Amino acid sequence: MKINILDTTLRDGEQTPGVSLSSNEKLRIARTLDDIGINIIEAGSAITSEGEQQAIRQITNQGLDAEIASFARSLQKDIDSCIDCGVDTVNLVVPTSDIHIDYKLKSTRLQVQSEMVDNIEYAKDHGLKVELSAEDASRTDLNFLKETFKLALDAKADRLCPCDTVGVLTPEKSFDFFSQLSDLNGKLSVHCHNDYGLAVANSLQAIRAGATEVHGTINGIGERAGNASLEEIIVALNNLYEGQYSTDIKLNQLYNTSILVSRSTGVYIQPNKAIVGENVFAHESGIHADGVIKNASTYESITPELLGRHRKFVVGKHTGTKGLNNRLLELGIEVNKEQLNNIFKQVKDFGDKGKCLTDVDLQAIADNVLEKDMEQKVNLEEVTIVSGNKITPTASVRLKIDDDEILAAGIGLGPVDAAVNAVNKCINEFADVNLDEYHVDAITGGTDAFIDVIVKVSMDNQIISARGTDSDIINASIEAYLTGVNRLFENADKL
Ligand code: MN
Repeated sequence: MKINILDTTLRDGEQTPGVSLSSNEKLRIARTLDDIGINIIEAGSAITSEGEQQAIRQITNQGLDAEIASFARSLQKDIDSCIDCGVDTVNLVVPTSDIHIDYKLKSTRLQVQSEMVDNIEYAKDHGLKVELSAEDASRTDLNFLKETFKLALDAKADRLCPCDTVGVLTPEKSFDFFSQLSDLNGKLSVHCHNDYGLAVANSLQAIRAGATEVHGTINGIGERAGNASLEEIIVALNNLYEGQYSTDIKLNQLYNTSILVSRSTGVYIQPNKAIVGENVFAHESGIHADGVIKNASTYESITPELLGRHRKFVVGKHTGTKGLNNRLLELGIEVNKEQLNNIFKQVKDFGDKGKCLTDVDLQAIADNVLEKDMEQKVNLEEVTIVSGNKITPTASVRLKIDDDEILAAGIGLGPVDAAVNAVNKCINEFADVNLDEYHVDAITGGTDAFIDVIVKVSMDNQIISARGTDSDIINASIEAYLTGVNRLFENADKL
């Protein structure tokens, strides 16, 4: 059974509190949704504003393969703005529960039905497809809902969508509800909200009971707890139902789409989010990682390749020295026992701070330890920094250069600048070293990230790159700088 996907990231998703997309962002998302095979894109709500209309028009002008829909209330002026924007389909939203009819519309059941029929006919007369969405259908009197759907089909509505607007279905109720509506012989869509975390489960049960179209958003964004998460539904339909269902979606592009939507909306993806979360294919060295290395299916039910993603191994506080050594060997890093213990200790320190380390982190620590083992001409003995608001950043450092101790202080525009200036004062007593480039990265993101500093330093005609890694930006900077300086001296000795 082929299941069509209606993506409402640009309409229901944009109703996420705090989210507002520019027309260019909407266009870029719409193109991506079209590329990955989404069948119907709900591009917005044309009546909302002039800006929204421009955004929808830009999308309808692209000649995308996907059917383009706009939300409309059961009002002629809403349908007129859909017509103006050139959409293929109107998602005509008609409240059907007594709560909505009495309190929101201050209308009557009969009035709602007769306006609905007029508006479906109006939209059809203007060449639009009509998807009739019954708002709050899951809290609507079932007989009234069926009667309303029959009227909609008589008026030539193309599809029917009984919406679980406030997310109160359970998987069992969803199956029963859709089973009872399936004898109307209309094409049924399902639209679930995630107030109880059941939106995906409820959508799947509706499909089992006969729905052939499913609404949702990328990353499950949307009002309150959000909409059903499309990537979860799509991958579940593909993997868990023994080939009963198919979709047109390119699964290996879902992850990139998720990142695009997250970046554009500013809505962060939790690391343990199914399918697209950062941790989905991460294994911490230990029993699980050992199993996955031997055979990935031991602890993975989804392969990263299916989703265009990569498996990653992290080390953390559950990693033993043996596992750590194996990981290092796999990364092409050979260490002796003392170096291994040194790296192990740093990994545990980070683990105790609640952090896992990726391969890149581990490589940085190892590089650092291996470099430290070389005998250095210049060594840092001590550094003190004073900085803050309305204080000139000041640093004092004590360096050991061969057997001499040299002490100096420096000021700078910021604490790193002050520290480097202080180090420079010490070194420049006997050599002319310049810092040509300075680059800083937070390796794993977050304020507790490992800081990786890469510098270029020069002396005479030599230029050398060096790096320093530490959880403290000042330490990482001085370390990078001194590593560079020591390499310059080593090379000078060789000359
Ligand atoms: Mn909704």
